Amino acid sequence: MDKKVSYIRASRTPQDDNHKDSDYVLNSMTTNSDAPQYDDVFWMKKALELAQKAADQDEVPVGSILVVDGRIISKSFNKKEQWNTPIGHAEVICVHRASQKLGRWRLSDATLYVTLEPCVMCAGLLVQSRIGRLVYGATDPKGGGIHSLFRLAEDSRLNHRFDVTAGVLAEECGKILSDFFRRKRA
Ligand SMILES: [Zn+2]
Repeated sequence: MDKKVSYIRASRTPQDDNHKDSDYVLNSMTTNSDAPQYDDVFWMKKALELAQKAADQDEVPVGSILVVDGRIISKSFNKKEQWNTPIGHAEVICVHRASQKLGRWRLSDATLYVTLEPCVMCAGLLVQSRIGRLVYGATDPKGGGIHSLFRLAEDSRLNHRFDVTAGVLAEECGKILSDFFRRKRA
């Protein structure tokens, strides 16, 4: 089966122009066929709550949830600063916890939700975990390993490919990041 990559067009409202300078808002992705699945927005809202927790702890606000059969298996947010480790990304913690909880590293029945396009490290992790599906919010033009800089979910040289739905609550997911960095610069 061909793996699909789908995009969701964000509806732009006038106040969105306030953060058009952000690196993280949904850029000019064009929409193709696939609408988000029914639960995608629901789970992404949960991931956004985790991103807010990260911001409250002065971490770059990225949140992640791993779901199997409509059930949350694990959740996390970025802890790079608190844990002093470059692997402290939300996705790494989330996937590791899920594997420990499920007692297996193959996660082909799982969907990972994350508020920001995974970086190259995390995209590689998703390949390693044989993830079933990825749903992310905002794009990361400076670091994204799924669409922006590399396309690791669909690279036929790798031994695993997975479905991706991008742009779910992208405006909200991008805004929490741009607000965070604006506060840091202030
Ligand atoms: Zn990452």
